[in-house]
Amino acid sequence: MKRMTRLAAVFGAVSLALTAAACGGDDAGSGSGSGSASGIVGKATNDKKLVVGVKADQPGLGLQTGSTYTGFDIEIAKIIAKGLGVPETGIEYKTTVSSNREPFIQQGQVDLVVATYTINDERKKVVNFGGPYFVAGQDLLVPVASTITGPETLAGKKVCSVSGSTPAKRIQTEYKDAGLQQFDSYSKCVTALAGGQVDAVTTDDIILAGYASQEQYAGKFKVVGKKFSEEPYGIGLKKTDTEGCNKINEILKTAATDGSYKAAWDATLGKSGTAAPELDTTKLTNCA
Ligand code: GLU
Repeated sequence: MKRMTRLAAVFGAVSLALTAAACGGDDAGSGSGSGSASGIVGKATNDKKLVVGVKADQPGLGLQTGSTYTGFDIEIAKIIAKGLGVPETGIEYKTTVSSNREPFIQQGQVDLVVATYTINDERKKVVNFGGPYFVAGQDLLVPVASTITGPETLAGKKVCSVSGSTPAKRIQTEYKDAGLQQFDSYSKCVTALAGGQVDAVTTDDIILAGYASQEQYAGKFKVVGKKFSEEPYGIGLKKTDTEGCNKINEILKTAATDGSYKAAWDATLGKSGTAAPELDTTKLTNCA
């Protein structure tokens, strides 16, 4: 008797949830013209404001100094905001770490995430992605005298990465003999490398290059230089916001041809002398 009641209650709750989901789906699907209330196009149009999740400790990409954020991801965020009609002063940056990007989007704590954020199928189950606007690859940062030459030489070594990141997951699943140590940010890993507590740091090559070129580590570290993954960087937003995703991709197409993508690179990562990559707009997501 008691069990019946509980089952009935659970069933009731499930069908309610299904109804709610169906309504939500209808809303999001039909809001292509004026911008659905919950999407970024509508919000940008109405409020002229956006909250963007970015990294705060990755030189060249997303770095916070005082209350100012700089880096390539920040410049990309400005391009997207501008394309949506939001001025730079309307952007509020919110620091994210690798593991809280999906929940921040899902819970509405941020409207967008531009934070060295790899597009993949697992993440696509819970969020949507515009882009990619850049393709990085997993690599290793080691002391200059290290004998580590690639991921296959990590057995028995302590390697540091960040929880909730694709590089940490790849070490866990494909290089099980490595001793993985996880922190919540790469700068903590780099501090541990400098202090000799770990033998290597692993994440995207472009992130590692930023740390290697920091003045305080001059001559101490090297990036191994053998990519062992593809990490296409996307702009994360709510899973239901197909309209917003399509708009982001349109903005990126324009940025690829009007010089603004190249300018974003030249002002940040390009300062080291590397020429701006080609933004391949044939590879943009289908926003499905
Ligand atoms: N691009 C990878 C990822 O999204 C590594 C960099 C990061 O953790 O932000 O997981």
